[in-house]
Amino acid sequence: MLPPSDVAYRIDATDRIVTVSDGWVSFAEANGGERVLPPRILGTSLWSSIADSATREVYRVMLGRVRKGVGAVRFQFRCDSPDVRRLLEMQVTVSGGDEVAFQTHLVQSQPRTEVGALHSDTTRSEAILTICGWCMQVPVNGEWLEIEEAITALGLFAGSATPQLSHGMCPACYSTMMATLDDPALSAGGQVTVGALP
Ligand SMILES: [Zn+2]
Repeated sequence: MLPPSDVAYRIDATDRIVTVSDGWVSFAEANGGERVLPPRILGTSLWSSIADSATREVYRVMLGRVRKGVGAVRFQFRCDSPDVRRLLEMQVTVSGGDEVAFQTHLVQSQPRTEVGALHSDTTRSEAILTICGWCMQVPVNGEWLEIEEAITALGLFAGSATPQLSHGMCPACYSTMMATLDDPALSAGGQVTVGALP
């Protein structure tokens, strides 16, 4: 699988996706992301790709700040594949007028024993497992754990049916991102990480 280097896209003043980078195309092709390949993705609203309400709120505030000219927003977050934990940096900047550019690059990666539950083509049971789309942690009895720990704690071993994954945002990532967006120096500093590698 290709590392997600230079995966970038840009939205216009009405939040519609107007361009995606070659890196985006390669990454989508390598990860079964036919839905997000051009031409299907171009012209669609950013909001149609974000279902989770907490994540939508963070993006709403982030876009408001960036468009006000407060400066760039930079943060590191997790974007794992089944067999690699990855820490990515995202930079969100105004790109001429009211357009906004989102650019990511790989900061660090860490191979691991493959986590079948993260395979996009795994057969799923009816059960739903929430996973934070920012730190990739999973809630177990009120505590957010790395997915391997959660699988063990929940007794989801290889061979048993895999629950469906529902992407959300954990309270820790939400408060970190909101605090970051409240502070222009912190937003631009690139020091903020949600979901540091274990
Ligand atoms: Zn989180």
